[in-house]
Amino acid sequence: MPPQIETDEHKALREAVATLGRKYGRTYMTSVISAGGHPSELWNEAGKLGYLGVNLPEEHGGGGGGIAELSIVLEELGAAGSPLLMLVVSPAICGTVIARFGTDDQKSRWLPALADGSRLMAFGITEPDAGSNSHRITTTARRDPASGDWLLTGRKVFISGVDMADAVLIVGRTEDARTGSLKPCLFIVPTDAEGFHKRPIDMELSAAEKQFELTLDDVRLPADALVGDEDAGLLQLFAGLNPERIMTAAFAIGMGRYALSKAIEYARDRTVWKAPIGAHQAIAHPLAQAHIDLELARLMMQKAAHLYDAGDDIGAGEAANMAKYAAGEACVKAVDQAVHTLGGNGLTREFGLASLITAARVARIAPVSREMILNYVSHQTLGLPKSY
Ligand SMILES: Cc1cc2nc3c(=O)[nH]c(=O)nc-3n(C[C@H](O)[C@H](O)[C@H](O)COP(=O)(O)OP(=O)(O)OC[C@H]3O[C@@H](n4cnc5c(N)ncnc54)[C@H](O)[C@@H]3O)c2cc1C
Repeated sequence: MPPQIETDEHKALREAVATLGRKYGRTYMTSVISAGGHPSELWNEAGKLGYLGVNLPEEHGGGGGGIAELSIVLEELGAAGSPLLMLVVSPAICGTVIARFGTDDQKSRWLPALADGSRLMAFGITEPDAGSNSHRITTTARRDPASGDWLLTGRKVFISGVDMADAVLIVGRTEDARTGSLKPCLFIVPTDAEGFHKRPIDMELSAAEKQFELTLDDVRLPADALVGDEDAGLLQLFAGLNPERIMTAAFAIGMGRYALSKAIEYARDRTVWKAPIGAHQAIAHPLAQAHIDLELARLMMQKAAHLYDAGDDIGAGEAANMAKYAAGEACVKAVDQAVHTLGGNGLTREFGLASLITAARVARIAPVSREMILNYVSHQTLGLPKSY
């Protein structure tokens, strides 16, 4: 048998998810967005088919696969024009962290529901005064000595999908670790907890998932709201952040493929001289380049997912950063070129590509910006000194 980049199982999963994606597609997603709703029908059907929890352990209702499989799900839904951003957060970050570090009780309480999509968890690390510098986060947990409960106080910003979520996995720090380098602690915070407030942020973003600013005002949590070890620090956090980067790459590649497919379709038909515009190399070559960039980004994403699923957290860290960078850039370029290919129609609502210009930029900024990845590669990979 010839060597393959993807197994037959992966190809079958890709095809099956693509079929589901086509059933919903861009028309569905656009109608959800314009109604200000949630893509619940697609989410629920994907859950029933086992796609949302494909990475979670079988004994807790998941598919027993890894981030390689979950990234295929997101990429294919995105390529059909109906990406589910919360896949990046609920099963990929929160599900992974709970599966790897949660107690038996947390696993049985959360994983089956995250896997079938009946419950959803958001993720909150970003803070207004910390931004890209997560070491500066000040959301603080202190113990109530009388009850053993935690009391969590702080602010978070740009947290996606809180209105759909049953809980948010909040990254905080313990009181005695307030100063010095970050020793993060992860807490499951129910969205109906007293002292938990959310405010939608008015984004210029055409997406089904909304972003929120959170205020945590002495939110009282039981002792078992803490996921994993109070002292495990960054290792535990990156168990969730690397899947997040790989999944953001999948999100970007899916969106780039969708935009590119629309541009190719248009360039094949649209004729204003003797031949369709796709015959002009000034139109064809940038589309070919966009395709190559997306394919290369996917290769790096597959490498990152493979290393992560094989348990190589360090190797996966570098590859996940590079995959997120490559995919974000490829997506921004593919969308830009797709819009340009359609000429004036690139900016009409009917063709629906212009709204992707802002959406594509998300993959360049979040969850870690292009510049912070270049910083990481400069320092960690190339051994260059730091400017900050
Ligand atoms: C649509 C969307 C959804 C999001 N969802 C979530 C979520 O669910 N949960 C969550 O926790 N967060 C979420 N985020 C937040 C996201 O992770 C942050 O926006 C991102 O980490 C950048 O932080 P910032 O916006 O504070 O930018 P800043 O840190 O203020 O950076 C601003 C600019 O300065 C650059 N910069 C900063 N430091 C350096 C440096 N040392 N060298 C060079 N350049 C630098 C950055 O690259 C960037 O271009 C989301 C953001 C968006 C836009």
